Amino acid sequence: MLSTMQDVPLLISRILTHGSRVHGASRVTTWTGEAEPHRRTFAEIGGRAAQLAHALRDELGVRDDDRVATLMWNNAEHVEAYFAVPAMGAVLHTLNLRLPAEQLAWIVNHAADKVVVVNGSLIPLLAPLLPRLPTLEHIVVSGPGDRAPLAGAAARVHEYEDLIAGRPTGYDWPELDERRAAAMCYTSGTTGDPKGVVYSHRSVYLHSMQVNMAQSMGLTDRDTSLVVVPQFHVNAWGLPHATFMTGVNMLMPDRFLQPAPLAGMIEGERPTHAAAVPTIWQGLLAELHARPRDVSSLTQVTIGGSACPPSLMAAFDALGMRVCHAWGMTETSPLGTVARPPAHAAGTEEEFAYRLTQGRFPAGVEARLTGPGGERLPWDGASAGELEVRGAWIAGAYYNGPDAEPLRPTDKFSEDGWLKTGDVGTISPDGFLTLTDRAKDVIKSGGEWISSVELENALMSHPDVAEAAVVAVPDEKWGERPLATVVLREGARTDFEALRAFLTEEAHIARWQLPERWTIVESVPKTSVGKFDKKVLRRRYAEGDLD
Ligand code: ADP
Repeated sequence: MLSTMQDVPLLISRILTHGSRVHGASRVTTWTGEAEPHRRTFAEIGGRAAQLAHALRDELGVRDDDRVATLMWNNAEHVEAYFAVPAMGAVLHTLNLRLPAEQLAWIVNHAADKVVVVNGSLIPLLAPLLPRLPTLEHIVVSGPGDRAPLAGAAARVHEYEDLIAGRPTGYDWPELDERRAAAMCYTSGTTGDPKGVVYSHRSVYLHSMQVNMAQSMGLTDRDTSLVVVPQFHVNAWGLPHATFMTGVNMLMPDRFLQPAPLAGMIEGERPTHAAAVPTIWQGLLAELHARPRDVSSLTQVTIGGSACPPSLMAAFDALGMRVCHAWGMTETSPLGTVARPPAHAAGTEEEFAYRLTQGRFPAGVEARLTGPGGERLPWDGASAGELEVRGAWIAGAYYNGPDAEPLRPTDKFSEDGWLKTGDVGTISPDGFLTLTDRAKDVIKSGGEWISSVELENALMSHPDVAEAAVVAVPDEKWGERPLATVVLREGARTDFEALRAFLTEEAHIARWQLPERWTIVESVPKTSVGKFDKKVLRRRYAEGDLD
């Protein structure tokens, strides 16, 4: 029997139309580094997104699923592109501005981007690549920055504001198939070539609804979210779309991502929520300790991208900023789990332990654990295996060109179509995921596994340790052993012996897991999205650079 319900496609244009009308007074505030930030209402953004779509279609000839890339910081114009491009039927491709030039060029060519919208301050990054980007026909420049390096570019260069000026502020958004490509994002390529994930209108729409649920981020139009997580890092974790559904105000840091301006933004604009990877928060914490500010507005902080160290959560709690830990991947849009403790744990000792897990699966994400022999493992909170997931906002393949069959590598997808996450962990009977490690980071010592994350968290709970990354290094006797790479706080007086003693006595790490190789570094190398870059550490160790 067929249902009697209307079949309305779940389109990004509908999110835009809703947000700019129903929540027209909500605002996107962009930090400028000047006394006054820049403010634009959702209604204005809706009008300007329509103008941009007209310009892309009529002036630049964007058609069907042409790729329109962005090389931009988080700001109001980037939000306009977020809506205009998919709403008109084209595909938004957010470029990671922290990638090495080689990879960036590879990605633009692989996606065959036709247009790039670039912030003026990022022209020095784009200009040298241009001779290697033959598919690029148009460059649209927005915001301050010297345009001179673009002189002589084969692609036509446009000024964003001139391009959209005078065009109609309404657009007859097409009724698209909701399964069509809306946006694409490449994984940061920690192993091998980057892989392109293509989100559909439907997946973005459903994911945004999930982000808005009380058991996920649960924000409302009374909130202002400081969106530190870059718009090129899995769609800023879905925040721009989700906020247009509910009228949450956005505070965008643009290029001012250092701890001091972030602290200034929090004090000056009083956001209630913020989202970023742990390394950003470690930096902010050090800044707040050195120069205390009034950060009392910020009561909710979403942390994900890599494991939140317990010491960081406790330090934030002490400042009145309640951390909510979440797990996800480029392939999962990214919301996979969110650590909201169950009702029975509220106010008990268990609560903190629940908050430290990667979180609970929402209704839209199915999960299973697979053991080394391919066997299914129970959700008993003890059996550890590789996490596999399935759902309406989970990737089922990778992009392989507009007309080619999508790629489904067998190390990434099971025969029955589940995504193999490469993450190893346990699931409790009530659906909370605890990750012990990434499969490729776990240290295999004499047939036993040592969790690099557990050692890192233990080390970072020592008051003298600012950062710690642990990687596997080859060992003749055991196969692999942990190498601890430690960044000490200013004025720290500890030594390796004391840290080893701390690990066993205070952090209760088993003796056989203790690292015997240690090194002090100025800072841990980071990936393009701010995670510890263990590949670089392993390479530096192999080259004798870390002894
Ligand atoms: P990349 O794989 O290039 O780093 P992603 O941002 O897609 O880019 O990374 C996803 C991975 O990040 C996950 O598979 C997982 O290993 C890690 N991750 C994300 N969130 C968490 C978390 N809360 N705790 C531990 N690891 C996490």
